[in-house]
Amino acid sequence: MVLHEDKLGQTLLIPTNLLDLIPNNHACFFVQKLVDEVDFDEIHAEFIGNAGMKAYSRRMLTRLVIMASIDGIRSSRKTAKLTEENVVYMYLCGGDSPSYRTIINFKNEYGHLLEEILALTIGVAREANMVNLNEIGFDGTIVKANASSSSVVSENDLKLAREIINEGKKADIEEDEKYGDERGDGVPKDLTLKEKIKKLVKKSTSEDETSDDEKIHFSNKEIDKIDNALEEVEKIKNNEEMKGSTEKEDKEINVSLSDPSARWMKNKKGKIEQSFNVQNTVDLKEGIILRTDVVQDQTDHYQLKPQIEGLKENLNEDLKNSKILADNGFNTGESIEYLHESGLDGFIPSRAQASKDKSNTRPFSKANFQYNIDKNHYICPNNKILPYQNTYKDKRKEKKVYYTNECKNCQYKNECTPKSNYRIITHYSTDFQDLMHQKMEQKENKEIYKRRMIVERPFAYMKHVQNFNQTSTRGIWKIQDELNLMAVTHNITRIHNHLTNIDHDHLENPQITTI
Ligand code: SF4
Repeated sequence: MVLHEDKLGQTLLIPTNLLDLIPNNHACFFVQKLVDEVDFDEIHAEFIGNAGMKAYSRRMLTRLVIMASIDGIRSSRKTAKLTEENVVYMYLCGGDSPSYRTIINFKNEYGHLLEEILALTIGVAREANMVNLNEIGFDGTIVKANASSSSVVSENDLKLAREIINEGKKADIEEDEKYGDERGDGVPKDLTLKEKIKKLVKKSTSEDETSDDEKIHFSNKEIDKIDNALEEVEKIKNNEEMKGSTEKEDKEINVSLSDPSARWMKNKKGKIEQSFNVQNTVDLKEGIILRTDVVQDQTDHYQLKPQIEGLKENLNEDLKNSKILADNGFNTGESIEYLHESGLDGFIPSRAQASKDKSNTRPFSKANFQYNIDKNHYICPNNKILPYQNTYKDKRKEKKVYYTNECKNCQYKNECTPKSNYRIITHYSTDFQDLMHQKMEQKENKEIYKRRMIVERPFAYMKHVQNFNQTSTRGIWKIQDELNLMAVTHNITRIHNHLTNIDHDHLENPQITTI
């Protein structure tokens, strides 16, 4: 082997045309063409006639943000650096180098554009025959919020603090004018909002008279944060009420001051953290994301209807020819009834069917008792019939009870019902859920349901490629923009791979041509 010459000191390295350095099937050209489809006229018109420094083209910034996301870069500082060091970014920005602050402000102001670009990616995928809407999968995952657990404050403390601030409003406004957002008399400058609230609450409940020079100052910004947090408290209460929650009425509600829109949720590892529930709707042909949503409800129980209705609106399709695939977390009486009444073809196993797949090792678990909808009885693992006995209403649900007198003489009694002579099976499902259960017992429907696993791919992309294990922004609307950006980049990557593979197979000079 011949040794290559060390050419350190050779500075004439770069061709005069940047395109000579970028492969002609690079994803940046796809991004360029896709963003060219967006109408920026109205947005750019806002800048016409403005005095001061020139603003960067919003089209160029959109290309930049999407390309960085495709490369798994979520930091605006790193994105800004790429415009100075990376030829692809230099090309997409036409040699301009916006600062990281410009990029952050752009993301904050124009995040809504991503919804339109997501729709464009779906249109391109449909043209490329990657989306046919034959099978659509729904799934949710819990993502940690960018909210510190240590900034969580109780509803009572928030209300009391707001009341005290209200009473002293005049003085607060005067102090705002005097001190701005900086500080209050007698209070160290670096006291957090939570510490201020705690201190205020403590003072109000203490018997000591509070002197003027010890008064705690809240800036307008901080008062807004308290008001936002109180609004979220009301939302939590309304949501609990809507779901007919059985939680105690006097249960204390806590919200995070750093992101009040986050909620306490338990993740797959069993850890309870301030989080959001991310819902993805995916076409199962090639795994293209059709819709992504951030919601504040820990469970998927109430998500099927809003996700399907949102999708129908986005696609302008009634979805009556589509198969709707979702896991048992979406199997509630309301959701299954909604599918039935909307004429939609659902494939959603019951909880018993889902746990049966996982718990073959427990032969006497409820999942191994077979329900016969026509005869209205259960059959136990020892082939005994458990006839229907009665129905009672517990909280919001009707429950049917089944048992047999044969348990006391059964050879499996100690394993099945060690503490009682009766193994009682309680049946929670509605008639529509029973019909769905029956449907999902059929082999061909189980086969169809297996394709639901494709819905997991975009989550894997979000978590492993985009490192989306925690939101990087705060506030539910900004997080929605963050999700839309990831859905856009996920779809672009899949479409680009698909098209370039086709091109590699059939063309001499592969290039993205389909937009
Ligand atoms: S204990 Fe009763 S329910 Fe259980 S296996 Fe025996 S007969 Fe069936």
